[in-house]
Order: sequence, then C-alpha cells, then structure tokens
Amino acid sequence: MRIDIISVVPELIESPLNYSIVKRARDKGLVDIHLINLRDYAANKYKQVDDYPFGGGAGMVIMIEPVARCIAELKSQRSYDEVIYMSPDGELLDQPMGNALSLKQHLIILCGHYKGIDERIREHLITREISIGNYVLSGGELAAAVVTDTIVRLIPGVLGDETSALSDSFQDGLVAPPVYTRPADFNGWKVPDILLSGHTANIDKWRHEQSVKRTAERRPGI
Ligand code: SAH
Repeated sequence: MRIDIISVVPELIESPLNYSIVKRARDKGLVDIHLINLRDYAANKYKQVDDYPFGGGAGMVIMIEPVARCIAELKSQRSYDEVIYMSPDGELLDQPMGNALSLKQHLIILCGHYKGIDERIREHLITREISIGNYVLSGGELAAAVVTDTIVRLIPGVLGDETSALSDSFQDGLVAPPVYTRPADFNGWKVPDILLSGHTANIDKWRHEQSVKRTAERRPGI
C-alpha cells in the first residue's frame, strides 16, 4: 500500500509516522508513505500556495493550481483508489472506515491549512472527505496522521501478533476489556483472580463479558 500525504507543513506529520508501529510497517515495506510539500508545486518563486478569499473575510485559502498540479503528477504515475481531503465536515472516521481503507492500494490525503482550501478542489479533485471529530484543528496534518495510523496498523503483518488488531476496540462492535500486567498486587490494588487462574476458556469468557458490559456503559449502540 502507498499513501501520499500533501501538506503545506509536512514537518507536522513526520514524527507520528516515524516511530513505533508505523515506522516498523514502513521499514518492513508493508506501507510506503510519502510526505509531499505543496510548496514544491507553487507557480511563483515565493512558493505561494495560498491567497486571500474572494468576497473578503479573515484567513487565507489554499489555491487550486498547486493542488491540481501535484495531484495530476501523482495520478500520472499510478492510479489512486481515493483522493481524500481532511475536513471537519467530512465523514467521521471510525473503525469500519479504517478497515475499508486498509484494503486500498494507493491513497492521496490532502491536508488543508489556514481557512481551508478552494471549494473547486473539493468539487472536482477530491473523492472522499474525512473528519476525525467535531472540532477544528489548525491544519489537516494531525488528522492525516490519525487516519494513516488507523489504516497502517490494520494492514496484515504490521502488528506482530496477528490477532491483536482483531481484539482491539470496535473491531467486533465491542470496546476492549480491561488489561493488567505485573505486579499482581500493587499496594493492595489487585488484578482480578480469574486472570491469574490459567483457565483460558474462563478467561476468554470473562473478557467477553467485560467487553459487553463496557460497551453497554460507554458506547451503547455502536
Ligand atoms: N474554516 C474551516 C476550518 C479550517 S481548519 C471550517 O470552519 O470548517 C484548517 C484545516 O484543518 C482544514 O482545511 C482541514 O484540512 C483541517 N481540519 C481541521 N479540523 C479537522 C478535523 N476535525 N478533521 C479533519 N481535518 C480537520
């Protein structure tokens, strides 16, 4: 899988995608992530990629020309399953969406900044718009990192233990059960006896019951 992320501040995404599980996936060649600086596609020597909004008002707007040039160049090299724009009013990211996206071959993710992007980009060049929640970030970079991390850990072979993504919250419509590690007793705060019992079937049953209970309490109706 290949993900091309277009941004005016690619530095903002570097660190989240260069450590831990995503880094391991990149090192193993399971995902190829490219950070593209939109300024490299600017028309003038000032590397201008934004301009004042028509009609007035505060904030700058990312221009269509550099975005169109950048996307055209990428599309001339391979075909893309989706050209995604990170947007607060897009479809809300959830685990089923992450699962579906993890099956794609080539994705472009465009990050907005400032006041947003020229609407014609959204109308003509974007195939899908994704939000990470009902709040406003300064730019799409952190949101793109969230989407990318969600997708990458679902690619087969990325997580060492093949079952661990499957037992995560939301994979089966349930949130995860509580987990514990040593010590079994911390100043009198004890780990549930069942987890120390060694009875795998009983432990599985307990975990499932905990998941069901937590889901009812915290995410009824997911
Ligand atoms: N004026 C816009 C917000 C612009 S925020 C509005 O009110 O809708 C600047 C950029 O940050 C956006 O272009 C988008 O790419 C990104 N962004 C902000 N919040 C986001 C969210 N919740 N999910 C995904 N992207 C977001």
